[in-house]
Formats: sequence, C-alpha cells, structure tokens
Amino acid sequence: DAAPKRILVTGGAGFIGSAVVREIIGETPHSVLVVDKLTYAGNLDSLKPVAADPRYDFIRADIVDAPRMQSVFAQFQPDIVMHLAAESHVDRSIDGPGEFIQTNVVGTFTLLQATLGYWRGLPAARQTSFRFHHISTDEVFGSLGPEGFFIETTAYCPNSPYSASKAASDHLVNAWRHTYGLPTVLSNCSNNYGPYHFPEKLIPLTIINALEGKPLPVYGAGANIRDWLYVEDHARALLTVATQGAVGGSYCIGGHNEKTNLDVVHAICALVDELAPDRAIGPRAGLVSFVSDRPGHDLRYAIDPSKIAVDLGWRPRETFESGLRQTVQWYLEHRDWWERIRTGVYRGERLGVA
Ligand code: NAD
Repeated sequence: DAAPKRILVTGGAGFIGSAVVREIIGETPHSVLVVDKLTYAGNLDSLKPVAADPRYDFIRADIVDAPRMQSVFAQFQPDIVMHLAAESHVDRSIDGPGEFIQTNVVGTFTLLQATLGYWRGLPAARQTSFRFHHISTDEVFGSLGPEGFFIETTAYCPNSPYSASKAASDHLVNAWRHTYGLPTVLSNCSNNYGPYHFPEKLIPLTIINALEGKPLPVYGAGANIRDWLYVEDHARALLTVATQGAVGGSYCIGGHNEKTNLDVVHAICALVDELAPDRAIGPRAGLVSFVSDRPGHDLRYAIDPSKIAVDLGWRPRETFESGLRQTVQWYLEHRDWWERIRTGVYRGERLGVA
C-alpha cells in the first residue's frame, strides 16, 4: 500500500544506500532516517540532493554499538529497516578482513538484536507489517563457470573474506526469522555502477583515470565476468522488495548485463574519447595496463532475475550501454564530487591519494 512509512536505512551515506534514500525522498511519500558511521566510503555529499527535505534525517552511529542502536529504534520507531551498512570492497577485505567481520557479521547481529527487541514491543498489527530487509550480494554464491546463472536457491559458496562475511550475515538474518519470527526479507544483487560510486571501484576509477590520461589497471587478462546493474535500477528493486517482498523470501537482482572487465574498460574508453576528447592524451584504450590478478579472483557472476520480475514486476530501465553513458556523463559533470574525495575534503581530512 502507498501509506507513508518510516524507513531506517543503514549505510545510507554509501553508494547504493544514498541512491535508495534519493529514490525514497524523490519518488515516495515515505520518511527516512539514515544511520551511518561515515567510514571512508560514507559521504554526506551524496545525500545533498535530499538534505533539506523534512522527511529526511541523519544520525552518525556505528551499527556495532548496541545501546546506540536500541535508542535509534526507540526514537525513530521504524516500519521498515533497510540494512545496507557494510564494508564492501573485496580488495580491502583481502588486506584487512577484521573490519569486515566487525561490521558485516557483528554489526548485522547487533542490528538484528536491536530490531528484535523493538519489534517484540510493537502492537500485533505493526508486528505483522514490519520488515527487516537485508541487502546482500551475489558474491555469496561463489564463482560460476562459463554456463548457468545464480538463482535464489543456489547453494552458498563464498570465496573472499568480503563474500564470506556477507554470507554469514545472510545466514544470521534467516536464522532470526526462523528462530524468533522476525519478518525478514533478503536480496542478492550483482555488481552495481552509476553516479556517486566511490572511485576505488573499477568503473569510476577507470572513468576518472581515462579523463586524466592515467594508466587503467585491469586485473589478470581482464577476462573475469561481472553482471552489471545501474544503481538506480537496484534502488527501485530494493524499495519494491522492502515494501512488497514476501516474508522469508529472497530475491536475486540483476539486469542480464554480463561483461568481461576488459570489455567494460574498453566501453568506458570509447565513451570518454567521445564525450571528453583530448588530443594530448589520444585514444584512451592505449592506457590499459594489465596488473597481477587479485588472489582467489572469482571468474564469473551472473544473475537470473526471473523471480523478482514475475513475483514483484520489477525490471531494469537501463541497458548497460545507456547506464554507462549516463555514468560517464555524470562523472564529467560532477568533478567537484570526486575531487573532494580524492583530496579527502569530504571527510574533513586529506587522504593523500594521488
Ligand atoms: P559502500 O561501501 O559504498 O557504503 C557502505 C556504507 O556503510 C558507507 O556509507 C559506510 O560509511 C557505512 N558503514 C560501514 N560500516 C558501518 C558501520 N559499522 N556502521 C554504520 N555504517 C557503516 O557500499 P555499497 O556499494 O553502497 O553497498 C551497500 C550494500 O549493498 C552492502 O551491504 C553491499 O554488501 C551490498 N551490495 C553492493 C553491491 C555493489 O556492487 N556495490 C552489489 C550487491 C550488494
């Protein structure tokens, strides 16, 4: 139903979380409270488009902090929780897995406990309509060979510290539903791209380096395949799952856009050449630089999104070509957003990133 709801969004200052918040404030009557620790990946600049709206509010807090989470629930009285707060970068999980266990596993546990305590105190009707939506990744399913797709019943087989921590959190969420009756819903999405994406990830890093004529690092031979989804398509899917998903259900989200990493980098080079030609730099494809592969790099991810299409009527609006063009255009027009990240101004400090 379209009645205004109170939605608590953890990780709402991140890439996908901020897209969800912009979608909620821009397209629905609902109210939002963002709970975010503002790690290096959290950026209030990404929430500027909604910052003045009276239906939007923000609290800086760590989901691992149990008393803080209890008071957030007591004060905000949410109808829906959308849990996106996480450490999200695979390379960082290889170099330092501790934070991933803390936030993704202990943090999800802490949030579940706070949610359960709050939910048990609700009147019966609100207990029934309440939802805890856990946002997860297709990486929990491990790596595919050249054939086949991930679906909701695919067995879990996580390979990186990041995906193992997300798999653990998915299992906790399902256990809290099965054991305590908490009305949860889960979604597992493929790789996202689009505006406000932190420039450590493949697509924004490649766009920015291509613009500046810097080397474009590609792991191994660039043959790994990812299934890309435009972040605003994901944000709409998430709101659909949070408000209409079946309790205990899980939904695989993807847009049938399988590309090798090298194809992605070449597509970006062609777009940057077209939209920001620079004679001194020349054709950007010449900047591709193969670097040694990520340890344990999963070969292929691909989603079959039939269930969310059939059951909930969600379909992506963007193709990879249209979404990538908009993304490159956005980075061209929002130099201030990524310059502030590179200089560390967005966190009130300098990162020293070249
Ligand atoms: P992100 O790294 O851009 O944002 C994560 C946000 O969580 C940041 O704002 C950060 O400050 C916040 N955060 C981190 N630790 C916290 C803590 N302990 N307490 C409170 N806030 C904390 O990540 P993203 O790409 O927006 O991903 C969001 C979610 O979606 C994650 O759960 C991720 O696993 C999942 N996901 C991401 C992708 C993708 O392609 N990016 C695909 C599928 C699923």
